[in-house]
Amino acid sequence: MPSAPIYLDYAATTPVDPAVARAMGSCLTSEGTFANPASVTHRPGRAARARVEDARARVAELLHADPEEIVFTSGATEANNLALTGVFRALRPERTRIVVSAIEHPSVLDTAHALAEEGADVVVVGVDPEGRVDPAVLEPLLDERTALCSVMHVNNELGTVQDIERLGALCRSRGVLFHTDAVQSAGKIPLDVHALAVDLLSLSAHKLYGPKGIGALYVRRDLPVGLVPLIHGGGHERGRRSGTLATHQIVGMGEAYRLAVERLSEDPPRVAALRDRLVELLTADGLGRLNARGAERVSGIASLTFPGVVGETLLYFLGDLAVSQGSACGAARGESSHVLKAIGLSPLEAHATIRFSLGRETTEDEIARAAALVRAAVQDLRRRAPRGEASATEHRRAHGHD
Ligand code: PMP
Repeated sequence: MPSAPIYLDYAATTPVDPAVARAMGSCLTSEGTFANPASVTHRPGRAARARVEDARARVAELLHADPEEIVFTSGATEANNLALTGVFRALRPERTRIVVSAIEHPSVLDTAHALAEEGADVVVVGVDPEGRVDPAVLEPLLDERTALCSVMHVNNELGTVQDIERLGALCRSRGVLFHTDAVQSAGKIPLDVHALAVDLLSLSAHKLYGPKGIGALYVRRDLPVGLVPLIHGGGHERGRRSGTLATHQIVGMGEAYRLAVERLSEDPPRVAALRDRLVELLTADGLGRLNARGAERVSGIASLTFPGVVGETLLYFLGDLAVSQGSACGAARGESSHVLKAIGLSPLEAHATIRFSLGRETTEDEIARAAALVRAAVQDLRRRAPRGEASATEHRRAHGHD
């Protein structure tokens, strides 16, 4: 019987918490809160609206924001698109510069590049070998021509935590709006939008035991510009994002965030200890090398390079282990990682890099088994082809899978 796969890809997505699934289920059928939350003229509609507003309050609570500062979107991709495009279109032609870091998620980088077609002057700032933006590099780019600066809180491939407080304060002192993608930090690091000095912040539910297809953008209440909406229609979400509110998705996100707040002091330290154990096992005897090891890193992510091994082949060999090479989004496009390139890894090193991401359900036993599987596969590959070029067919034959 095949053994159960070990899931170490929580940064790509998480399973939905059973309590979240139950809450979502209660918004679908005729016995549940199925009515349109905009139909406030009748009781079922008002009941749905109340559940949406309760969820909004839960999301706001995690950020120490006001519920009215939360705009629900279809996910963080849309939230990032709305933040950059909405601000740029509101501030042009006076302010056309958009400053982003080189390690942003494609939903930030590609949006910025798409806005270049509309006249944006996009400046991509590099990072140090640990994946950090140097405020001194940012500073000269922040002036009266700058519409927005966007730097992510936690990088999804490396786990590097950015000093958002400092970058946010710098932008504010220069009168420049600041956005951060907090998809990978929400629920793992305490978030306070006031301390972080952010104007806009993107969130997703599915990295935090909520459903896919729902996210939010925090928009500071006294933002000096009116965000130009991307989606036009019935004027939902204070005109910022039209479309019938997806009650079940929103309620799921609210419940996931409520649980995250409850578990914030418990989950991250436990996960960090497991991550440290995994790194210890995988770097012993020079097997692998931890990336961004000098940076503050989020609890659940470890990026390791196994020199001399081809990542795709290694992944193939690790059939029972669900991990990623770079990010799931990069995998969808079949591209090598722009993040690993930005921290100075060569294409060969980038290809020899695996992201392990741990979560709420990860156990000590899984970590031990995962480390043993990786060690055996890396050693096997290195033995067969000193440059890691053993073919998958060869391995399958050797291990009797053919
Ligand atoms: N930003 C980061 C840092 C992410 O990791 C992801 C998910 N891969 C996103 C944005 C996009 O989020 P969503 O899947 O909700 O669109």
